[in-house]
Amino acid sequence: MKYIIATNNPKKLVELERILNPLGINAVTAKQEGISLADVEENGKTFKENSYIKAYAACSKSGLPAIADDSGICVDALNGEPGIYSARFGGENATDSDKNELILERLKDKSDRNAHYTCAITCVFPNGKVIQVEDYCHGEIALQPEGTGGFGYDPIFLYEGKSFGYYTAEEKDEVSHRGKALRAFKDELIKYLEDNNVK
Ligand code: IMP
Repeated sequence: MKYIIATNNPKKLVELERILNPLGINAVTAKQEGISLADVEENGKTFKENSYIKAYAACSKSGLPAIADDSGICVDALNGEPGIYSARFGGENATDSDKNELILERLKDKSDRNAHYTCAITCVFPNGKVIQVEDYCHGEIALQPEGTGGFGYDPIFLYEGKSFGYYTAEEKDEVSHRGKALRAFKDELIKYLEDNNVK
């Protein structure tokens, strides 16, 4: 069965394809299907709600089962911010570097630098069936950006003391919120396909 990846974020798309395809899940992009996904309003209150909104819209548009990710970074000393607002943190025009500087600035006088990434994955099937999973990656906020790997908040996110900016793609996938959530999703998907005798 073919699944459409419901994202317009090119960096996320790379990670989703990179993790899903070796898991044996035939994930295609909207572009490959000749479909353009309109940006949907992410007005949910949780990562799971927002990932459902994106997956539902892509499934309705394409007629294919659609897989969406909603993710972000939650900083303990900022009461979990930016959380579901990670993509919009600092305003529409803020660059990744602006967002990272804003977090560093807000943590300037804080001793607690604990943070975690969250990733919710939702798959919506044309028959209305929904599979949802969520997973996390716990670490700390660095004192300054380090490394050029990954994307978004990765240069300021320390996993086991080392910036995600220094991790290779494979190393990140092994431990990341997205890698863990997608592997959990695969298990749920296999169960659903077996239980419903879907080939
Ligand atoms: P959304 O899920 O499209 O609303 O956006 C999630 C935002 O969270 C991204 O634009 C990034 O800023 C951030 N984010 C999510 N996952 C990662 C990651 O693996 N590394 C770095 N930043 C991430």
